Amino acid sequence: MRAAILENVPGELVIDEVTLTDVGPDEVLVRTAACGLCHSDLHVMEGKMPMPAPILLGHEAAGVVEAVGSDVGEFVPGDHVVGCLNVHCDECYQCLRGRRFLCERRRAMTYRADGTSRVRRGEQQITQMSGLGGFAEQMLAHRNGLVKVPKELPLDLGALLGCAVITGVGSAFNGARVRPGHTVAVIGCGGIGLNIVQGAWLAGAERIVAVDLSPEKLELARTFGATDTVNAAETDPVATVLELTGGGVDAAFEAIGLPHTVAQAFQMIRPGCVAYVVGVPAAGVMLEVPGAQLLAQHRGLQGLFMGGNDFKRDIPMLASMYLQGRLKLDELVAARIKLDEVNEGYEVMKRGTEARSVIVY
Ligand SMILES: [Zn+2]
Ligand SMILES: [Zn+2]
Repeated sequence: MRAAILENVPGELVIDEVTLTDVGPDEVLVRTAACGLCHSDLHVMEGKMPMPAPILLGHEAAGVVEAVGSDVGEFVPGDHVVGCLNVHCDECYQCLRGRRFLCERRRAMTYRADGTSRVRRGEQQITQMSGLGGFAEQMLAHRNGLVKVPKELPLDLGALLGCAVITGVGSAFNGARVRPGHTVAVIGCGGIGLNIVQGAWLAGAERIVAVDLSPEKLELARTFGATDTVNAAETDPVATVLELTGGGVDAAFEAIGLPHTVAQAFQMIRPGCVAYVVGVPAAGVMLEVPGAQLLAQHRGLQGLFMGGNDFKRDIPMLASMYLQGRLKLDELVAARIKLDEVNEGYEVMKRGTEARSVIVY
């Protein structure tokens, strides 16, 4: 099958032929239908998120089940599935405490039980990002890296549930537990940020302030529920948020992963509230906040990984909300592209003016 491989870090993707191993007892073979381009893939390509190369990227994927292993009872061929990078064991300390997104065996489970990769190019083993590898015509994944979705859900939209949507909406629902009447600020309105805005809106937030440098993205944020927009290229975003909200928000979300925007999020909250880091800081980056304010104003700064999701619970819920007309997905897709256009897709992402590009197979 054809796949987009990252051979060296930093580097671009190369389209090449690879093979998959046989379907193991706990594994599911999926015909990939679509895979979104996520900033985390770009982080890996640029060396900001260390992963072993050669690697098959793509972790925001959906498809149709072709075959299942002998121990798999949850799926049958023909089922529509969405992949999620939070593959989990259901047995470790974190899984038993309901925090499957922090599964202690997640890294190990992105490989086969014997520790080898499921993807090969001749004799060479190719790492499968998140145990999925959605930049390929087929995916061989652990059953706990996939969830069944209704066949009415278009798969090119369903793919986005697996990373951008579950991370963004989950940050509002599971992480910050946004409630009716809350005020919220979101810094960065790409795929994740737009979905934090959407999650806060669905949760009933009274005021949702979106902050970005791109007028196009701010306009899009309004359609996802932002009540106010702030262009940080034109005004001081902290002063503007404090003024708009009369003293700060109940929850601020940073969806970029940069130290200065994290510091801004920390200054946008009211005393007693929490700023959340949802964007991915590059490896080695340190974040700084004023210690005296942290203590005396009872402020919090918290990382919020993948929306604190329980994806086998959350993704079917999000699919239902889309089918009921409550969750916006169509508006997230800026471009549908072919696998061969994946590098151009990341060039568009670097310019930072558009929402998601999705590879459709
Ligand atoms: Zn992602
Ligand atoms: Zn676990």
